[in-house]
Amino acid sequence: MDIKEKCFKCGGEVEKGYIQSSREITWVPKLSKMITDPHFINDSIILSTGLNNFGIWHVDAYLCKRCESVFVDYSHAEK
Ligand SMILES: [Zn+2]
Repeated sequence: MDIKEKCFKCGGEVEKGYIQSSREITWVPKLSKMITDPHFINDSIILSTGLNNFGIWHVDAYLCKRCESVFVDYSHAEK
């Protein structure tokens, strides 16, 4: 996906950026009661691709301002 791609939800233009966090960025099927190593949560998907030079986890993300949505490609994630 690059900046010329269209939002699959509304067809608007998307802008490439990042989601960043001090912890690994993870999709989980259910909310946890406590912060747990995401590698031990069943069916979780680690979205972050790595740390930058300042110790910040990040993943490429695409913003659609028209429908106020953010999309993440997780094809890099371990399956
Ligand atoms: Zn959209």
